[in-house]
Amino acid sequence: MMIEKLEAGIFPERSELISLLESDTNDEELFECARETARKYYGNKIFIRGLIEFSNYCKNNCYYCGIRAGNKKLERYRLSDQEIIDCCRKGYDLGFRTFVLQSGEDPYYTDDILCALIKKIKKSHPDCALTLSIGERSRKSYKALFKAGADRYLLRHEAADEKHYRTLHPQELTPENRKKCLREIKKIGFETGCGFMVGTPGQTLDHIVSDLVFICELEPDMVGLGPFIPHEDTEYKNYPAGSLELCMRVLAVLRLMHPTLLIPATTALSTLDDDAQIMGIMAGANVIMPNLSPIAVREKYLLYNNKKYTDSEAAERLNEIRAKLTRIGYEIVVSRGDRINIKNV
Ligand code: SAH
Repeated sequence: MMIEKLEAGIFPERSELISLLESDTNDEELFECARETARKYYGNKIFIRGLIEFSNYCKNNCYYCGIRAGNKKLERYRLSDQEIIDCCRKGYDLGFRTFVLQSGEDPYYTDDILCALIKKIKKSHPDCALTLSIGERSRKSYKALFKAGADRYLLRHEAADEKHYRTLHPQELTPENRKKCLREIKKIGFETGCGFMVGTPGQTLDHIVSDLVFICELEPDMVGLGPFIPHEDTEYKNYPAGSLELCMRVLAVLRLMHPTLLIPATTALSTLDDDAQIMGIMAGANVIMPNLSPIAVREKYLLYNNKKYTDSEAAERLNEIRAKLTRIGYEIVVSRGDRINIKNV
């Protein structure tokens, strides 16, 4: 009944959504419907994005995050322009047509430095999409980055519920500003991604419903979703990781509510289970973001403990994913992997 409502584009009662998320009775049907919805628009095609973690410097102190400023144990790094370009070149040869540049909030990167880098990458790979995931900046800055050629921006909203947001972040980081940034990013014309962690300390199902409501309001093109995983050098080191089952249910609900949304099966998922990314595809995800960062820096970009694939080459990882996808009847495509425009279908 509930699944039908979701498929019909009706936003259910909060209590109905909560019951769907908390019980495993409908899981099989839910995942199948979500998977079929993704197939209707994207067929058996899975998009890939090459993730380049180019700096682990961060001025913020998010309580859950391993690269937060207060983590004095962490050795910091910045990749040079040339190293970043080399990652893109390597990725291009492997079939990547989207590069995601991600970092902590690193003040070293002025607009001028970033715009020059964006232009260089777009010049050598005009057929590729460039995604930025570099945190909160000013509207002026977002505009400059867009004008320089960046196509997409990922900024997880982290928690739509304002009280919950504040328990995860220091005072100077406000939920209002996070949401304001996302609205600006979207208005400027970026393909926009938000997202949140499942299982953050203190999170309730009601909070997750608020995330779903926020996503309906924002109407992003992508939603990144993964379990919270503790990191030993953070305030939240003693809390348990988020639940795999709940992640899958949220993912499937998102797919049903937003049939053409780009939904990655995140690396954080595979920390819970080797096959969790495949389970994610089976629950309606349609994107995978393998790591293109140089192996030498991967251990330094530890957002959480036991992060996977810190020592496997992108090529090797890609072959592994390809083999697993083939077994379930899916394939990776060489394409920018833009969101499908429903009007053109
Ligand atoms: N500085 C950028 C990129 C942040 S890192 C920004 O502000 O957007 C990318 C994402 O990793 C974060 O948005 C967060 O949702 C996730 N992350 C951070 N710490 C995590 C943890 N302990 N467990 C799971 N995911 C985490």
